[in-house]
Amino acid sequence: MADWCGGDDMRDDNDWRLVGQEKWLKGVELVYRKYRQNPKNPDWDHDHCEFCNMKFFLKAGPDYLKEGYTTLDDYHWICSRCFEDFKDLFEWTVVPAEKSEKEKQD
Ligand SMILES: [Zn+2]
Repeated sequence: MADWCGGDDMRDDNDWRLVGQEKWLKGVELVYRKYRQNPKNPDWDHDHCEFCNMKFFLKAGPDYLKEGYTTLDDYHWICSRCFEDFKDLFEWTVVPAEKSEKEKQD
């Protein structure tokens, strides 16, 4: 029997990038935006993707991400690739940037 053609290898649940993020990222709302500093942490100039550790950086550079998905508090950042890989698993809701801004100000 050709069992090589079966199976679900679209996503590996033992992916090296998965280290328990579902505890804080499962089912959360995300917004896609340019990377920016967390207002609560003015000393930070960079962040890392929650999954693959790619660097989000305020300064330009070939190895830096300039935009991606973030939680509404700008605290957790996720690169586009990891977003695509894990969006089904984590059941994220993507909200428009304007909505997240509005909610913050209220
Ligand atoms: Zn990533």
